[in-house]
Amino acid sequence: MTAPTLYDQARRHAQFMAGALVLSILFVLVVERFFGHSTIAFGIAIVALVFANRRMLGFNCPTCGKNLFFRGIFVVPWPNRTCGKCGTRLSGTDAP
Ligand SMILES: [Zn+2]
Repeated sequence: MTAPTLYDQARRHAQFMAGALVLSILFVLVVERFFGHSTIAFGIAIVALVFANRRMLGFNCPTCGKNLFFRGIFVVPWPNRTCGKCGTRLSGTDAP
């Protein structure tokens, strides 16, 4: 057993966020179904997602500090395997 790489941890976070997104959508749908349209439910879901995603900002390249989820000016829901700025390998030994 080796320690999970930064990429592994970031990937786990990406999976967690995908699950959180699905739960948020379900939450809003359920509230709308039983209580009618609710801006409050939508607001709660957005705040919860932003809060859950704050951890994303902690996944930075150890060499140059670039965030794994940023591709230039874009933010994508899946982390870089190799740092897009300095080329540092972030996923251990199995990366191409
Ligand atoms: Zn880097």
